[in-house]
Amino acid sequence: MPKPLPFRVRVAIPVHLYDCFDYVVNEAEYQQAEIGARVAVSFGRQNVVGVIVEKVSLDTPLDPRFQLKPIQALLDQTPLLDPKILKLLTWSAQYYLFPLGEVFATAFPTLLRQGKPYDLLAHTWHLTDLDAEAKLKRSIPQQDAYKILKLQPQGTLENILNLSGVQTSTLKALEKKGIARCELAPQDFAPAPVQLAQMPLKANEDQQKAIHKILKAQHKFQGFLLDGVTGSGKTEVYLQVMHEVLKQGKQVLVLVPEIGLTPQTIARFQSRFHVHIALLHSGLNDSKRFQAWQHAQTGKASIILGTRSAIYTPLPHLGLIILDEEHDLSFKQQEGFRYHARDVALYRAYLQQCPIILGSATPSIDSYALVEQNKLTHIELNQRAGNAHLPKMHLLDLKAPQKQYGLSSILINKIEQRLQRKEQVLIFLNRRGYAPVLICEQCAWQANCPSCDAHFTLHLKPYQHLHCHHCGLIQRIPDACPKCQHPQLKPIGMGTAKIEESLQQLFPDFAVIRVDRDSTSRVGSWQKIYDQIHQSQPLILLGTQMLAKGHHFPYVTLVAILDIDAGLLSVDFRATERTAQMIVQVSGRAGRGEHKGEVFLQTLRPDHPLLNTLVEKDYRTFAMHTLKERKVAQLPPFRYSVLLRCVSRTAEQNQQYLQHIAKQLQAMAGTEINMWGPIPAPMERKANKHHAHLLLFAQDRARLHYYLNLWWAEAIQHIPTGLRISIDIDPQELS
Ligand code: ADP
Ligand code: ZN
Ligand code: ZN
Repeated sequence: MPKPLPFRVRVAIPVHLYDCFDYVVNEAEYQQAEIGARVAVSFGRQNVVGVIVEKVSLDTPLDPRFQLKPIQALLDQTPLLDPKILKLLTWSAQYYLFPLGEVFATAFPTLLRQGKPYDLLAHTWHLTDLDAEAKLKRSIPQQDAYKILKLQPQGTLENILNLSGVQTSTLKALEKKGIARCELAPQDFAPAPVQLAQMPLKANEDQQKAIHKILKAQHKFQGFLLDGVTGSGKTEVYLQVMHEVLKQGKQVLVLVPEIGLTPQTIARFQSRFHVHIALLHSGLNDSKRFQAWQHAQTGKASIILGTRSAIYTPLPHLGLIILDEEHDLSFKQQEGFRYHARDVALYRAYLQQCPIILGSATPSIDSYALVEQNKLTHIELNQRAGNAHLPKMHLLDLKAPQKQYGLSSILINKIEQRLQRKEQVLIFLNRRGYAPVLICEQCAWQANCPSCDAHFTLHLKPYQHLHCHHCGLIQRIPDACPKCQHPQLKPIGMGTAKIEESLQQLFPDFAVIRVDRDSTSRVGSWQKIYDQIHQSQPLILLGTQMLAKGHHFPYVTLVAILDIDAGLLSVDFRATERTAQMIVQVSGRAGRGEHKGEVFLQTLRPDHPLLNTLVEKDYRTFAMHTLKERKVAQLPPFRYSVLLRCVSRTAEQNQQYLQHIAKQLQAMAGTEINMWGPIPAPMERKANKHHAHLLLFAQDRARLHYYLNLWWAEAIQHIPTGLRISIDIDPQELS
């Protein structure tokens, strides 16, 4: 009789391998094991935490490729990931061709990824000796801990103690001395019934229609594109729809593009609802993030507000998803597991059979295409709520001779007028530093980064140096031209630091506040700037994209964008879409108060047709034109695309390998897949590595995935050493 096969579970492991691995368990563990539970296992020489994806049926033969090992421990009695999240993660791994174990890791906060026990019990600390002060003379931390514990005779949560600066080791020391004791007390995860903390605004007619439409879909899957200019009251629509959903004891997941925007959004939610809100973003420390995740996963939190990766949070009572600023690129992860939270969110809402709202003042062309295909319901909000007006846009020709410091004289006059009227001005330039190029006036030598195909940026403060914004390399400024010894090197072009200097010279009586990564890197500096802007003093606000998003500047009435041309000249077919979104988003900062605003765009291409559509008509007209162009050219979203990126030491190795791939795919798929490339990436050499691309297009998504899977399963076995290749499904950037 053959020896019976051992009990096994199949485990997804967070390593960059596409297989899942079988581990041996004993019979009791096999009975207990559930899909979605974590296990500690050894893998190679590492100890890792994996997730059970299958209980291997007993008649499955052993896979001779793998050496069977027992698990180290079954970490969860009940799985932390529910079947819907497991399905979402598995789908994501298949769709984005990324290893399942690494995809699973995205769903857990760090502490759980490290294998920390997930108990629904909380460690609570009490004092057992209330007269111990004298015994603690020698340790200040123990004295502090003692004082805090003494304030709460019924016990204090260890988490809270940790957050107040008391280390667990200090508590353990007190326990050893017989002064304190730890107990496990169950935590209360019951959600609180929703209560309004503030009356809703009276919805205007457009808002009412929007709310009504969305609520009609409350108990089924339906996607909405809430398309409303900045300040049209989208957030008010969210709040009123949320209220109905919360009233039924359901949870609402709200995704926003950036951490920077969460404090404002959370403040608005908090002032409207008395419910528990869980915040999930990468700026939290591990224990806070774990706690927020737990509150979401147990159902205690009714509103879950997070950035991209929060889309993978398990939520037992999910009833609505809102994705605000849906056009924003930060919803797409640009490295590693390159998922798009918007697309994942749509699938999640479908699995959950709940509505999803994508909101934006500048919807993506992708979403407009979904509207055209009746996959999203289009809801428009056409007016600014309250009394605010949309600003008027003007193009300024940079080729015209009247200029000072790179600013058109018309613009300088307009700025002057606004400041005299005690209003604020916002100047946008997406280039930090002093100047983007440093050249020799005599021989035209340029200061270039030795590791990248890029110029060094000149910085003068806090000290003079050259900085490569692509690889981070810093060098001192040469005293003379290294090529011809000419002593004069000249900065060309303008960065925010230089414009700051020019504006100070032009308007010496007014404050110029610069907001970019260099000026706000110190903690608290942004808050200070923010406070200054919200006093109604006339001033000039100058900054990079940090200023473009979400903020509300009530006293700004003039917005100038100094250089919009980079986006118009790019090889990326999405560049004009991004430029238009940036222009409209930056413009949306103006005229939010009662004063009417104006926007000036400096360009060398005042005749650019799409730009004129935007300026003379509006974003939606621009978007419809772009949609038509993409359709004619059969570009995404009218065909599906995949970008294969290849990185190695030499351009030749990239070319050779990508050509080889192109042949393989061609042989398999024939005309079902079209290709662009292989071509060098727009910046071919970065940090001394060469980058090249092969872009694939196909009409049929399922066929494209079929061929890709077939090819990839084979290809990953034979990737040349020293070369990395990544697959980007539905790429958003061709860089
Ligand atoms: P969006 O999210 O579209 O940018 P908001 O919801 O932030 O717009 O609304 C912009 C401003 O208009 C806010 O100050 C908000 O309080 C106000 N607002 C929104 N809806 C109404 C309404 N129905 N009545 C009066 N004011 C409103
Ligand atoms: Zn020179
Ligand atoms: Zn560099």
